[in-house]
Amino acid sequence: MTSLSVRFGLALLHSTLILSIFGVIGINTVSMSDLESIITSHGGQVLRITDVGYPKAATLWNAAIQVWPSLIIRPATYDDVALALSTLYSLNVPIRIMGGRHSYGGYCSHRGVVLDSTLLKKLEIDWESETITMQAGLIWSEVYAALNGSEYAIIGGLCPTVGVVGYTSAGGYNSLYSRSYGLGSDNVLSFKVATYNGTIVTASSTSNPDLYWALRGGGGGNFGYVLEMIHKIHRINQTNLPTGQHSFLSITWSNRNDFRAVLRNWLKFVDEVANFDTRIGFDVIIFTNSENSFLLIYGSFNGPHADLESIFQPWLSKGPKPDIYTVKNFTQFEVITVTGTANYPFPVKERQHIVSAMAINITEAMLDVLLESQPNTTFQISQYIGVIYLHDTNKDKNTAWAFPDITFDIAPGFVWYTSEDDSTAINIAESWLKRLMNAAAPTESIVGGYLNYIDPYMDNWQQMYYREHWDRLREIKTVWDPTWYFRFPQGIPPNNP
Ligand SMILES: Cc1cc2nc3c(=O)[nH]c(=O)nc-3n(C[C@H](O)[C@H](O)[C@H](O)COP(=O)(O)OP(=O)(O)OC[C@H]3O[C@@H](n4cnc5c(N)ncnc54)[C@H](O)[C@@H]3O)c2cc1C
Repeated sequence: MTSLSVRFGLALLHSTLILSIFGVIGINTVSMSDLESIITSHGGQVLRITDVGYPKAATLWNAAIQVWPSLIIRPATYDDVALALSTLYSLNVPIRIMGGRHSYGGYCSHRGVVLDSTLLKKLEIDWESETITMQAGLIWSEVYAALNGSEYAIIGGLCPTVGVVGYTSAGGYNSLYSRSYGLGSDNVLSFKVATYNGTIVTASSTSNPDLYWALRGGGGGNFGYVLEMIHKIHRINQTNLPTGQHSFLSITWSNRNDFRAVLRNWLKFVDEVANFDTRIGFDVIIFTNSENSFLLIYGSFNGPHADLESIFQPWLSKGPKPDIYTVKNFTQFEVITVTGTANYPFPVKERQHIVSAMAINITEAMLDVLLESQPNTTFQISQYIGVIYLHDTNKDKNTAWAFPDITFDIAPGFVWYTSEDDSTAINIAESWLKRLMNAAAPTESIVGGYLNYIDPYMDNWQQMYYREHWDRLREIKTVWDPTWYFRFPQGIPPNNP
């Protein structure tokens, strides 16, 4: 036996002994080098800057917030996640939890140790109970692929590479399906969670209900390491289309002079028709750069084609004629194949900053800001103002989701190409948000910002993300993470940390 394998054998013996004590005292720690040996011996990975796989593993979706961790630990089992947590906690080593790497603040990474879920990829569908169990390392395209060919859909992200846990923990909306089936967080039946000291617990309506409440809207990374979630899945049976297809409308106007009339007409339709028919979903994009602009409305309809025509045509006939109008029938998997992969490669080539305003309504003064022309810059910048229609998407009111009353998330993405322009571009985005907030102030139309579009530059983020849930979330944090081990900028602190 070489000295390495002797050492390794001892490490395993050591860990086995400790694991047997684990159930009794609840805490289990090993040395850092033993931790690495145990993780790799169970099929996990440990990556440092010099390792071949490191650059790919450490790269975030958005280059504008890239930060390089000193060590990436990828456990392959739940016990190894627990062991990593208890060990790193006892050694006072700060960590971040990494999922799909789409956090707009880059909060899944830092310059220290990262616990990455990439190897936790199992999923199990139970057709009888209409549920799916998903491990933390899954991204949405993998889940949609597993459901493809069935009549079922799930509430997940439109970007195929977003991680399932990060998305769901902050609410998670899907502009095409959420009006029918709720937010991602409304659909979770239970979580399996590893806490800071390596204890594994279940959170559901009957087991640790406070934690269950907080994990549904309180945001990723705050309360523990979510190992797996059980979600409801939904049979698409109202459309009369094969294999769970939905109808998708894609409507485009390219004459900028028409945009105000198009939006006014759409807002009227939302007020008078769509608010009363949850089969209708919308996602509006107003795109502007120095050469081009267009207004695109994606609509989705969870009902028969004949109803679609009779509902949408009267609306469209009252406004400016669109340049393009198409209706296609797609399954959930086909939608992301058509729209997702091409639009959202991983990582994206550009640099991005996104802001968000959760709005009850959109007034004329707000339209003035939405329709502003291209900012005057010496570099190339594009703005995609997303207006996501969310009226009545929150189906379970007993969660930490703080926005049961909103109708829109106004979420513009600003896109540019070089790091020298980072601060100017971010400034443009933040001042745009301030102008929108000022325009909305007299009517109190904006009530917060969306935690999944976390904005490191947001003032008063506690109120903006959490509203009246802030105090309860802190109390729950105090119970589940009293020493504030799961910590990042804009993370929830315990009371008296
Ligand atoms: C192109 C794009 C499109 C998007 N579209 C939508 C959309 O349609 N609807 C929507 O609601 N959101 C959308 N988002 C926002 C997205 O849901 C959030 O950025 C989400 O937090 C990303 O999760 P992630 O796992 O990919 O990212 P990560 O950066 O890996 O994680 C996000 C946060 O969750 C924490 N976290 C990750 N895994 C775990 C875990 N296992 N346990 C505990 N904490 C964990 C991380 O520490 C981090 O704080 C989009 C984002 C992008 C970039």
